[in-house]
Amino acid sequence: MEDMLQGALSQLDVAAKYTDVHPEVLEKLRYPKEVLTTRLMIRMDNGSRRSFVAWRCRYDDTRGPTKGGIRYHPDASLDEVVTLAFWMTFKCAVVGLPYGGGKGAIKVDPRELSKSELERLSRAYVHAFAKMIGPDKDIPAPDVYTNAMIMGWMADEYSSLMGYPCPGVITGKPIALGGSLGREDATARGGFYVLKQLEKQLQLNGERRAVIQGFGNAGHAIGRMLHEDGWKIIGISDSCGALHCPSGLDPDAVHKVKLKTGKVADYGSEHSDVQVIDNAKLLALECELLVPAALENQIHQGNVDSINAGVILELANGPITSEADQVLNSKGIVVVPDILANAGGVTVSYFEWVQNRQGYYWTADEVQQRLKPIMEKESMRVWNIAHSKNIPMRTAAYVHALQCLSSAIEAHGTQSYFCA
Ligand code: GLU
Repeated sequence: MEDMLQGALSQLDVAAKYTDVHPEVLEKLRYPKEVLTTRLMIRMDNGSRRSFVAWRCRYDDTRGPTKGGIRYHPDASLDEVVTLAFWMTFKCAVVGLPYGGGKGAIKVDPRELSKSELERLSRAYVHAFAKMIGPDKDIPAPDVYTNAMIMGWMADEYSSLMGYPCPGVITGKPIALGGSLGREDATARGGFYVLKQLEKQLQLNGERRAVIQGFGNAGHAIGRMLHEDGWKIIGISDSCGALHCPSGLDPDAVHKVKLKTGKVADYGSEHSDVQVIDNAKLLALECELLVPAALENQIHQGNVDSINAGVILELANGPITSEADQVLNSKGIVVVPDILANAGGVTVSYFEWVQNRQGYYWTADEVQQRLKPIMEKESMRVWNIAHSKNIPMRTAAYVHALQCLSSAIEAHGTQSYFCA
């Protein structure tokens, strides 16, 4: 597997060819501003002690405090955290949020911990990184295998360290602790708005078959939205297996089984018209829309030739390697890139932070009414750059973000140590 950050930087290099940003800007964006690695030692329920490696990266804060989730995953690595923080930097710039990019992780399989062990681990993370995070410095949020409950514990821990309530230190919190309505399904909703806005350009007005890879929060929510919009969801997968049903699946019914047994494949054993297949077969299904909503590097050199989709909407971060990306481009498969397609999540995180700072809370309708125009405007902007320069949408999204970052870096001044 290619080195992740190198793969991400190659996207930057490609985009740089289509803008006249100063080489010093590119040089600055090649390295993270601040990275901290530590080990968290916690007491397990049986009285023993166990340690877990943890990271936080503040990649770039030229445009504002760094922003990005914390993931809990047994395969987490420093390279992955830094790459994800790099992507957050560009994602926030694409949708014009006043943030830089950050990311964190703990190398752990949270399913192996009890609820109280998970709480101790989450609080230990905040203790270890308390000097690095803060409402004006670095604002974490949920990511893979973390959720509102965990964000609530973390906000509580930070507030108790400061001695007063600090809801703005973290987003994706429970509503009772200052979370925003509409945050839960915001990643999917943002992606759905992008798709609706570009329906004509992407020629999605004929047959509409969709395949969803990954059935966590984002995968389930986009499934529901597409289903309600008349799409036929012919394939759904999770990390344990996949379902295929040519006449279409009901995402809510599949989700019910997933909640009960932990596996989408168990839905297949209850329904004779549904076939249980593996992940490789799922990715190869013929469809108009493929939505990777799981982890990075799912579509790579080894399987890219089997992809049979018209459009790919990247709800996950980095689901396509840079080599596979080139193959898809050469085949004319349109990829709506992660830094645009999944930016709805961080956009509503921004709304949550704004509400926390104002102490004034919006209705779910107000949240959606503010999210929609941002996603629509930036989709069109990226599409128009792609069209006018005859480049893929990913390159266009990077061109747009790079221009925003470049003007902010220059505005800090040539003598700036902050931006050095
Ligand atoms: N983890 C999400 C992402 O990758 C959300 C980050 C945030 O809300 O800060 O975009």
